[in-house]
Amino acid sequence: MTQPRNRARQTASATGARSSGLFPAWGSALFPALLPALVPALILALLVTPACSRDAGAPHLAKYVASRDVMSTIATITAIAPDPATASAAMDAAFAALDSVEAHMSAFREESDLGRVNRDAARGPVQVSPETFAVLSEALRFSRLTGGAFDVTVGPLLELWRTCAREDRWPTAEQLDAVRSRVGSERVILDADRRTVAFPVAGMRIDLGAIAKGYAVDRAVAALRAQKIAAGIVEVGGDLVCFGAIPGNLIGEEAEREIESMRTSRAVVAGDPEPWPLGIQSPFGEELLAKVRVREGGVATSGHYRRFTTIAGQRISHIVDPRTGWPVGNPASVTVIATDGLTSDALATGITVLGLEAGLALADSLPGVEAFIIAGQADAPVMKATAGFPEREPLAGRKAEGSAP
Ligand code: AMP
Ligand code: MG
Repeated sequence: MTQPRNRARQTASATGARSSGLFPAWGSALFPALLPALVPALILALLVTPACSRDAGAPHLAKYVASRDVMSTIATITAIAPDPATASAAMDAAFAALDSVEAHMSAFREESDLGRVNRDAARGPVQVSPETFAVLSEALRFSRLTGGAFDVTVGPLLELWRTCAREDRWPTAEQLDAVRSRVGSERVILDADRRTVAFPVAGMRIDLGAIAKGYAVDRAVAALRAQKIAAGIVEVGGDLVCFGAIPGNLIGEEAEREIESMRTSRAVVAGDPEPWPLGIQSPFGEELLAKVRVREGGVATSGHYRRFTTIAGQRISHIVDPRTGWPVGNPASVTVIATDGLTSDALATGITVLGLEAGLALADSLPGVEAFIIAGQADAPVMKATAGFPEREPLAGRKAEGSAP
């Protein structure tokens, strides 16, 4: 998972604006020192303006925002809540849900489910938690759905490419073949009755980096809802789920203009509940390309434009095509909207591997799934979307403040 260094992270720690430092996001007069922490840690930058209802008789809903380091990246939770205590309790539960997913599914922790699977599963079945088993089962389903493009057993390939990048050399065909003999989701042996995972050969590895963030976001949203939060967004390293609708008095034209240029102001427009405005970042620069409005669901972006290493001066993506063993050069970015975070996360990665045409065809064939793909080069970008992808309102020239996908 990502390890971005960005302004949001630095600001959050500088101001103490973590879950414990919960603050109402609109309170510019009251919390001037905290305002920079509103800069969202999104590749899909959240474009909602902090605001608060002042209308007599209207519910005093406010937008509360908190960020924390989770899964080697930044998690930002936005909750529309009637008071700080409600927001605080709900966010604590949501952050705990994120922590729990990381504790089970991090491949970097020796005693996590994945740590044990990667160490022991070639010697015999390893029992895992119901959550990990469910995510693994879904991962294997997405592998079948994408014809093997999405594959959580790519770990050994990633390791080979990391080594080659360190030594600044290309892998040989023999090295690639040798490593590919240890890759393949179809070879993972799951036993649903015993909830166990086994590998048929030594040296296999599972890395849930392309799907666990989306699942974690789903769990955090479930935690917010269980605490009676009716609307909000949970975002982890560029993958997000939004739910409920923003009260009309917490958003508006002026408010959006302000936040698009990354300043803050109070919204003044009252009205019906609104969908969430989200920004899509250009993969070729820092600017936001377009705004889309999403009412509910998961939105994830995959791409290689910020997370890459180099070999002989050439960019090497962190996403590899398990069918060839090679890193994916194009498309530069894939944004997927789906009914839940796990699906959008898995498909954003899978469609990146499938490429422009096959990726769009897959998204078109799946109910409830929409995709927007940016391929080509900076000087000749090719952008295509599925028919149902929300209208993209141009935002050219606005700078994004996001973290890498
Ligand atoms: P995402 O940011 O969701 O696209 O996930 C990217 C991460 O997934 C990478 O950093 C790898 O850990 C892992 N990964 C790379 N290639 C694949 C693939 N073909 N299928 C599944 N996971 C992958
Ligand atoms: Mg993904």
